[in-house]
Amino acid sequence: MRAVVYRGANDLRVETVPVPSIRSGEVLVKVAVCGVCPTDIKKIHFGTVPPPRIFGHETAGTIVRVGAKVRRFKAGDRVALHHHVPCGECHACRHRAFAQCEQYKRTGITAGFEPAGGGYAEYVRVMDFVLPGVVKIPAGNSFLEGAMLEPVNTVLKAVKRLVLLPGDTVLVAGQGPIGLLFTRLLTLRAMKVLATDLWPSRLRAARDFGALTPGDSLDDSVKQLTHGRGLDAAVIAVPLDEVVFQAQQLVRGGGQILLFSHTRRGSRTPLDLATICVDEKDFIGSYSADYTLQNEVARLVFSRQLDTRRLVTHQLPLEQTAAAVALASKPAADSLKVVVLASPEGAEPPAESRAPVTKRPVN
Ligand SMILES: [Zn+2]
Ligand SMILES: [Zn+2]
Repeated sequence: MRAVVYRGANDLRVETVPVPSIRSGEVLVKVAVCGVCPTDIKKIHFGTVPPPRIFGHETAGTIVRVGAKVRRFKAGDRVALHHHVPCGECHACRHRAFAQCEQYKRTGITAGFEPAGGGYAEYVRVMDFVLPGVVKIPAGNSFLEGAMLEPVNTVLKAVKRLVLLPGDTVLVAGQGPIGLLFTRLLTLRAMKVLATDLWPSRLRAARDFGALTPGDSLDDSVKQLTHGRGLDAAVIAVPLDEVVFQAQQLVRGGGQILLFSHTRRGSRTPLDLATICVDEKDFIGSYSADYTLQNEVARLVFSRQLDTRRLVTHQLPLEQTAAAVALASKPAADSLKVVVLASPEGAEPPAESRAPVTKRPVN
């Protein structure tokens, strides 16, 4: 089969590799669509993990083979995959800190080599311990929507860490694909969302998802919206420290600042600790997904209450995975979510509300 193999920093090659074989508790999936995710982009750009690997973990496709012990699935099922599932029994799991569980950190989906998701390949092997996170895609929904379950899950998990009352005011800084998911999930929960971004096109998308966008002064907008109280929470979906400082000023005493994009280790930042101790402004973080939310995530996406089709602006064939990664790593006015199509059936007709689909090579 064809697969895109990571051979070192910024080195992705289209190669021919064996179709993975499966064990009795596993399934083999023919990949239709795989989303390009910022965490993979970082690993590819900075070469932070040893090669060779086949990345791609926002995967949807069709089951083509099931092991003898598999009961819940059969060949022909269209499914959205989930590559991390915790053990449910360890100390971290008993605290529901699933992303810190040792089993959770193992990747349960592979197209060969050290398991790394494998979605940038024609077939993936799905191991038994991640099957609880696999969801069937209803007939009326697309593989593209299935591939969005994983990113939506990470955002829903983060939203649930916020302590909010209906009508509260939340800043979502950064309206890339992730920021827009925050915006929509929060407006669905009856929050007033104030959305910021540098691109007018992204602010338009945020308004379509129910957000307000500030005028010239963010401070004034916050004052007006909150009658001078300040924000109830701020979500930082852009990896800029200045944005964190600004948000911290704008949050009311007892409010929360949620970090979602600060995933690079090693940088330090000055902080007035009295704002945490005296003003009780909590800093919280959220990372990765929670498979116990998968059913709720599936309902939100497949009912189109959260219409993820709007977010996918570029669909590139498997051979152009390197171009897809490059495109996703440099946000542009017309780009939001970029996906790779491992087979033609992954392609969907463009929705009216969506930007034009790019099928040409991107340089
Ligand atoms: Zn992801
Ligand atoms: Zn565990």
